Amino acid sequence: MDISLNELRQQMRLCTNCSLWETRTQVITGQGTLGAKLMLLGEAPGGHEDLVSGQAFTGEAGHQLEEFLQFINLERNQIYLTNTVKCRPTRPSDRGRYGPYANRRPKVSEIKACSYWLDQELKLLSPQLVITLGTVPLSRILGENTSLKERHGVPFFSEPYRTWIFPLFHPAAVIYNQKLKPLYWADLNRLRDFLQSQL
Ligand code: SF4
Repeated sequence: MDISLNELRQQMRLCTNCSLWETRTQVITGQGTLGAKLMLLGEAPGGHEDLVSGQAFTGEAGHQLEEFLQFINLERNQIYLTNTVKCRPTRPSDRGRYGPYANRRPKVSEIKACSYWLDQELKLLSPQLVITLGTVPLSRILGENTSLKERHGVPFFSEPYRTWIFPLFHPAAVIYNQKLKPLYWADLNRLRDFLQSQL
């Protein structure tokens, strides 16, 4: 029997499928409505989402999102926002902004453990387009050895998920590596054109 988005979120909040449940404050479920044609797929929640807001794409990620949405002429409520991994992956750090932890990239085992939830979201929403931010979500869709350097800015149709995928660099990676900046903005221009022609 099919379940609703709210039922899915309730189940997700109780998940202990990987060890991230031991260090999370809360599960950060996807946000948005079933009518959303677009899904924005990030890597994993950060400290602000986990400890402060309880919502996806807030804090620094929220600022990046606002800039991104403004450029492609969309409102936050037109997009379903979610992450590949739903709990914050951390490592001990004495320089963490949110407690004695820093964010880290999710492990392959954590991505696999969390696959079920993203698959359910994709099934329920059937988005026309999934915009992936960074290597983690793209590898989740295409497999572990995917090269974002080769795939960024080039949309493709995913047969297994019956949706278009548009791979982008992660905005945070662009902040740390300024060489990516012109590539990232060129990709955003392509995305804007793609949205106008396809949706
Ligand atoms: S990251 Fe995913 S699989 Fe792991 S505990 Fe959280 S919701 Fe469950």
